[in-house]
Amino acid sequence: MLRVGLTGGIGSGKTTVARIFESLGIPVYNADTSAKRLMNSDEKLREEIIKVFGANSYKGTELNRSFLSSEIYNDEKKLDKLNALVHPVVFRDVKSWAEKQTSPYVIEEAAILFESGSNKFQDFIIGVTAPEELRIRRLKKRDGKTEEEIRFYISRQMDEEKKMSLCDVVIQNDERQMLVPQVLAVHKRLLELAKTFSKKDPPSEETSSL
Ligand code: ATP
Repeated sequence: MLRVGLTGGIGSGKTTVARIFESLGIPVYNADTSAKRLMNSDEKLREEIIKVFGANSYKGTELNRSFLSSEIYNDEKKLDKLNALVHPVVFRDVKSWAEKQTSPYVIEEAAILFESGSNKFQDFIIGVTAPEELRIRRLKKRDGKTEEEIRFYISRQMDEEKKMSLCDVVIQNDERQMLVPQVLAVHKRLLELAKTFSKKDPPSEETSSL
């Protein structure tokens, strides 16, 4: 199974692009929403989060989102600690999800694909990019966040230019170039790639993430 990553900074339009791939019959795994789900449903993960962040991090079995957000908001070390607990659980979850799919390729959508190390599990990576001012305008409208907050979140992610340079292909979501033809071109390329990929011997456990 060909595994494809889809990444881009906040507000770049990953989910918008992912929906177009879904309309072409390609299954999409959203790493951010899955991480939130797993923090509630995975008992072992819950225990580990409580060990590090204290009993206040949950209300019963439900993640205390506002407490945890305030803990990590201005503390990069704590954010790293939380990520170190959550990411391996997401990696396992997406792997078992991908193995159940029957499409020529699957997509994992993740804002922090490179930052989390999830890029090493992908065979091909799509970047989505948009000018920063446009991203800020979109997020103000979608989330009602202030410009300051949005710039703070952007500053915590990998530099946009660097991120895009690490991708195999970049989709421009600048509201000038149409999205659908760009997605169709990538889809065609991936279908071709999937054909050659399925002819290969199944990779060993060690190399399956390359
Ligand atoms: P996040 O990382 O914050 O989840 P994202 O990269 O997934 O963001 P989207 O949610 O797809 O980005 O897009 C952000 C907002 O911008 C949404 O409200 C979306 O509807 C809007 N948007 C994205 N692309 C376009 C476009 N080409 N034209 C108009 N609006 C757009």
